[in-house]
Amino acid sequence: MRVFDCHIHIQPWEQLRPDVRARMIAGRKDLDAVQKALAEPAALLSLMDHEGVEKAALINYVAPEVMGFDPSVNDWVTRYVRGHEDRLYAVGSVHPRHTKDPGGDTRRLFEKGIRLLKIHPPHQLFAANAYIADLPGLAEIYRAAEEHGRPVTIHTGTTIFPGARNRFADPMPVDDVAVDFPKLKILLAHAGRPIYMETAVFLVRRHPNMHLDLSGIPPKKLLEYLPRLEDIADRCLWGTDYPSPGIASMRKNVEDFLSLPLPEAAKEKILWANAVRVIG
Ligand SMILES: [Zn+2]
Repeated sequence: MRVFDCHIHIQPWEQLRPDVRARMIAGRKDLDAVQKALAEPAALLSLMDHEGVEKAALINYVAPEVMGFDPSVNDWVTRYVRGHEDRLYAVGSVHPRHTKDPGGDTRRLFEKGIRLLKIHPPHQLFAANAYIADLPGLAEIYRAAEEHGRPVTIHTGTTIFPGARNRFADPMPVDDVAVDFPKLKILLAHAGRPIYMETAVFLVRRHPNMHLDLSGIPPKKLLEYLPRLEDIADRCLWGTDYPSPGIASMRKNVEDFLSLPLPEAAKEKILWANAVRVIG
């Protein structure tokens, strides 16, 4: 089966804060392979060939306070994917608190080659609907993405990185985003894992442009976490979160997923067709 992994973290690790970096590399046996893939796209592409992954979206976002990532991650990832845009999709971000022109910056990212946006509330330290309160620039970012037909991946669910704020982990504020930007394509990354999954499923069933990104959930436990996965198979996109801590490999996750008692057609949509439709 063809595989589109819509959530891998190929990022400039040299920007990571030391405590976060320690968390990323603790106990890894594949550090060498990860570092080669971070260093050059040819290594990532051959890893993807080996792992049976045809396309992947490379998650990057600006989160200086918690992760250490500054706005140069956008240039880093567009440079990284150059010449490989058929297989590698650059995901970037504008942090509304670190720019004077959120809408303009977002449009310039799209011109530069960023295909999707990432919003990470617990790492960027604002709620997904903060434009209603004290962060009006966030609305300009969503509006630009909506106008350009570009999806926004919004992190949902708890995160254990030092300094992350889990009061922003609940997906419910994304309800406002879908109401206020009805044409915006939204991916709820990690489907609210592990304590907000019912909320994530509710939102997907309510809003036609909302989707779940299944990354970061142990695939063997997917049906425990999402018992109605088959009913929402049209709205779920495959992802692994590789190389985040605890992810064995992109291939192992796909194999575990394929062993689940789901119809073949549902598996095919989740692993490939939905991502092609939503991400392009
Ligand atoms: Zn992630």
